[in-house]
Amino acid sequence: MEIKDVRTELRDPLMNLESLVAALSLEQKVRLLTGADFWSLHPEPAVGLRRLVVSDGPAGVRGEIWDERDTSVNVPSPTALAATWDEARVEAIGRLLAAEARRKGVDVLLAPTVNLHRSPYGGRHFECFSEDPLLTARIGVAYVRGVQSGGVGATVKHFVANDSETHRMTLDARVDERTLRELYLAPFETIVGEGEVWAVMAAYNGVNGATMTENPLLRDVLRDEWGFDGVVMSDWFATSSTEAAANAALDLVMPGPSGPWGAALVAAVRAGAVPEAEVDEKVRRILRLAARVGALDTTPDTGDSPAASAVALDSAQVAGFAGAPRGREAYTEERVAAEVRAAAAAGFVLVRNEGGVLPIDPAGLRRVAVLGPNAEVARTLGGGSATVFPPYTVSPLDGLRTAVGDGVEVTHAIGVVAHTRTPIARAPWLALPDGSGVGTHGSGHGAEVRYLDGDGSVLAVEPRDGGAFNWVMGSFPEAVPRERLATIEVRALIRATEAGTYLIGSSGLGRHRLIVAGQEVYDVVLTLPPGADIVEGMLTPPQRTHPVRLAAGESVEVTLVHDLGRAEGMLPGPTLQLNLEPPHGTDEEEIERAVALARDADVAVVVVGTNEEVESEGFDRTSLALPGRQDELVRRVAAANPRTIVVVNSGAPVLLPWHDEVAAVLLTWFPGQEYGNALADVLLGRVEPGGRLPTSWPLREGDHAATQPVDGVLTYDEGPAIGYRGEVEALYPFGHGLGYTTWEYGPAKVRQDDATAEVTVLVRNTGDRPGREVVQVYASRPDSAVERSPRWLAGFATVDAAPGEEVAVTVTVRRRAVEHWDVAAGRWAVEPGTFRLEVGSSSDAKTLSEAPGLIFDPRRS
Ligand code: BGC
Repeated sequence: MEIKDVRTELRDPLMNLESLVAALSLEQKVRLLTGADFWSLHPEPAVGLRRLVVSDGPAGVRGEIWDERDTSVNVPSPTALAATWDEARVEAIGRLLAAEARRKGVDVLLAPTVNLHRSPYGGRHFECFSEDPLLTARIGVAYVRGVQSGGVGATVKHFVANDSETHRMTLDARVDERTLRELYLAPFETIVGEGEVWAVMAAYNGVNGATMTENPLLRDVLRDEWGFDGVVMSDWFATSSTEAAANAALDLVMPGPSGPWGAALVAAVRAGAVPEAEVDEKVRRILRLAARVGALDTTPDTGDSPAASAVALDSAQVAGFAGAPRGREAYTEERVAAEVRAAAAAGFVLVRNEGGVLPIDPAGLRRVAVLGPNAEVARTLGGGSATVFPPYTVSPLDGLRTAVGDGVEVTHAIGVVAHTRTPIARAPWLALPDGSGVGTHGSGHGAEVRYLDGDGSVLAVEPRDGGAFNWVMGSFPEAVPRERLATIEVRALIRATEAGTYLIGSSGLGRHRLIVAGQEVYDVVLTLPPGADIVEGMLTPPQRTHPVRLAAGESVEVTLVHDLGRAEGMLPGPTLQLNLEPPHGTDEEEIERAVALARDADVAVVVVGTNEEVESEGFDRTSLALPGRQDELVRRVAAANPRTIVVVNSGAPVLLPWHDEVAAVLLTWFPGQEYGNALADVLLGRVEPGGRLPTSWPLREGDHAATQPVDGVLTYDEGPAIGYRGEVEALYPFGHGLGYTTWEYGPAKVRQDDATAEVTVLVRNTGDRPGREVVQVYASRPDSAVERSPRWLAGFATVDAAPGEEVAVTVTVRRRAVEHWDVAAGRWAVEPGTFRLEVGSSSDAKTLSEAPGLIFDPRRS
């Protein structure tokens, strides 16, 4: 009888959760509702729950250690992924990330980020997919499916209206209801519904008067209306209340172990201010997530709890519960490299190609000048919590050198210095104190870190692979008890490759002493300005430098001494950088050098871009211009060589005031660790530049929604008119991208029922190369009774075709694509009458042709 009962219970996973919840005391339950540390949730052996690990996201899986000791595959950043418009490819990247997560002991990835590109000034633009809610939703669903098919949870974030960074912890976004529903909530809705995502992260900001960890949207919309059954966690340190947040249907406070819940929440439940049923519901959700990711053990190890033994699930049932096979794909290094290389190229957007300068014909090529500040030190990913530490990166310079081979000379000059901070010390100038390198990742460079106690005794010595160190979340070597640690010393040799002045320095918070060749050159206390963001403290901490003249080949020993104590201030642990600026000419000298190389080359490739000083989490941009004198560099190089190809390496749009003075422009985003190889593939025509713009490329400053709150309020005055929905003139329209072949569109046919329409169009490859086209369908409603954007994306599909081939492409348009949010009725509605459809290759009317219209039955809404 007893056995039979248990088996009946096992068939119903929700009942299983009930008995698990019932087996726990209030204290045990509440303990589960705040993180155990920065990146994990508490285990609970009484119900077979092991420690569950979460990790950022989205351009890789960082794991629990924030430095190069634990490397991660760096995939293209979200703008690059969205630029592929390729759901199957993004899903495959998701599967790769799941394998990475498993390799690194991570159960839940803190990605994807589906806030919208409301303004190109937004600091985390690179981390979001698009300005369009439909493209964001489709790419987001694909990403989540890929990740979760590997048994790893995805976390869609940041719910909601976290579309810029300035005062992100405190600002209140005021968004009218239709705009909120039709734009900002829409990707979340699709990813919760169709994507069946297992976790959601509540944003730092408030929306319409209530901070998101306490906002009614959590219960009314996410939980009740959309039926979300996963975990809602707070963004890191976002929760500021006990009762309000607990009653608002926030499930998990991150990180831990402290926070506003714990004992205060137990007391609130006892006092009747928070129903225990609500605590049970949160625990149920955490256990459900644990079951889904395989963190709920099939054999709980406390035989003493009857409830626990009653739920000894067998593995088949856990897998069934997760709804996902635990298939493991074999990811060899070669396969990973090939996949991220192809994904990068698929997101490159060719926006200009005059006179067929691209692809470069290797026949007869003798000399290529690869110029610009991002040519040798490219950015493969954006800054902030999205940071991962790739095992290697291929720069444009390296990628092109390898691809063209020995027969072609590749010359290089930086052109201009576009950064103002002194960079992190790196190869070939940085070496261990004994002159050797660490080289665990083939880098052959490093620094030695010594951990000392209060008496100056050495607790541990650690050879490290670079000049950046971060213990904000702990991760000290085992032999270093945090409470005994008093001082950290970083020792290295700086080797001069040429004679000149080397700026040597350090960054961090607190007391720094720098000793160069046995002599103390500074002893300072570095502090942040009041009100600075935590991410700023960690990633762009204050710095101090000291100039040192070195002869060619000379080495000098450098020791940075950092005394701990209250020094870290806002950060829970220290972060340090050893910085180095090797000698370089003035901008004028560097530009002249670049121009001379361009003049002597068959082709000039100028790699321009942003850097972490202007584009990162934690702050918004104040200008869309390329930093430094890069515009001038491009113009002068283009004047010297008509075959000038500009490669733009930025996560978000930058202004290209010289766009019609150069032969070609290729937008490459932050493309991941295989950047240089993917770039060579595309420039040399081995691979098609597959991308289309996921966001309008701005023509000028000042046309865009403001990101600066006024008195704590950021009003989304523009309503739905963001990006191409507004009537602002763009340099390149949303959806635009050229490729290496040409296309002709035939007439479209439409078949529809009351839920969806299928728009089929014949597309012919009229060029002489195989290619890929993204067929886009836009809806509009010229006579609309409700206010609408002039046209909006209603569906898309991709097609590959050989030269001369004609293919019928079918684009699905769902009813939701034309519905509007009826504020008075509080529901989605479809307007009676005909919606106009247009089919083509971008949002620009000149590229679109009319298709038969659509009519949906309004009574079916
Ligand atoms: C970011 C989140 C991130 C979290 C953990 C926060 O600052 O806003 O996106 O997941 O930190 O790193």
